[in-house]
Amino acid sequence: GAKSTDRNSISFYDPSIQKEVEQRATLETQLHEAIEQNQLELYYQLQVDEHKNPIGAEALIRWHHPQRGQVSPADFIPLAEETGQIKAMGRWVIEKACEQLRDWQNQAHLSNLILAINVSAKQFKEPNFVDQVSQNIQRYGIHAGRLKIELTESTIIDNIEETVLKMRQLRELGVKFSLDDFGTGYSSLQYLKRLPLDQIKIDQTFVRDIVQDPDDVTIVKTIIAMSQSLGLDVIAEGVETQEQRDILLANGCHHYQGYFFGRPCPVEQFSADLVGRLAV
Ligand code: C2E
Ligand code: MG
Ligand code: MG
Ligand code: MG
Repeated sequence: GAKSTDRNSISFYDPSIQKEVEQRATLETQLHEAIEQNQLELYYQLQVDEHKNPIGAEALIRWHHPQRGQVSPADFIPLAEETGQIKAMGRWVIEKACEQLRDWQNQAHLSNLILAINVSAKQFKEPNFVDQVSQNIQRYGIHAGRLKIELTESTIIDNIEETVLKMRQLRELGVKFSLDDFGTGYSSLQYLKRLPLDQIKIDQTFVRDIVQDPDDVTIVKTIIAMSQSLGLDVIAEGVETQEQRDILLANGCHHYQGYFFGRPCPVEQFSADLVGRLAV
């Protein structure tokens, strides 16, 4: 700032902050256009069992920005959450995912896949969220059991009563639930016991150093044991090497997702890869 010589003080005229505010405002406008002008795409990342057999996919949003190229969800999802644009974006994701499941349902090698979508807090809190999901399930005539919703601990804990109610309604339709990024939030075992979940997703931060760090092995082992005793499935995310997968398997985790098995990619490539696998 003009007056400020102290690096730790923030003046109102700090040019770097000013710039950040402007960039955010631009991105916010552009995000609006992204939804309207078809710049969003869902990528699909494979999920496999211990025999490398496909069990499902996670849909991950991509924004093809006309000038900046591909913008990472880590850069725009938090902004979309703040501005509320996540609601429109989230509706689009639900519809796209259901449409995709309908297409897969008619192809023998894809018809059993479960498709997981990420749903953020503001989106899940929309009063008509359950209707949004059930309407798309009906509209596309999909088996509800093929759709899985990934929530994070913070989404759930924010309003546990309401969340559990909605989860129950969706589960009655057949929709599955997975707890994403598990271990990075603050959920207590008390909460976990009450949640109508199907799966726990071990966060990739515990997988990353699992080969070198015995503490991570202990953490992962504990998560798996806890999941098993609660009757929940476990999947590990961010699996990049055979060694990581072997340690996970040795500790009782049979489902995996990560670059070692496949990167997120457009649907055409995703299904071509699956056909390729079957041909081997
Ligand atoms: P997430 O749901 O935990 O997704 C996993 C992230 O890890 C993805 O990042 C994925 O590309 C990445 N990943 C997968 N395998 C590996 C691996 O082996 N190594 C490493 N280092 N990374 C791996 P991505 O696609 O950038 O998405 C980031 C986050 O953005 C997601 O984390 C999710 O929280 C959010 N997100 C993505 N798509 C959506 C969406 O449609 N709606 C909402 N609300 N959030 C989304
Ligand atoms: Mg996820
Ligand atoms: Mg995750
Ligand atoms: Mg994450």
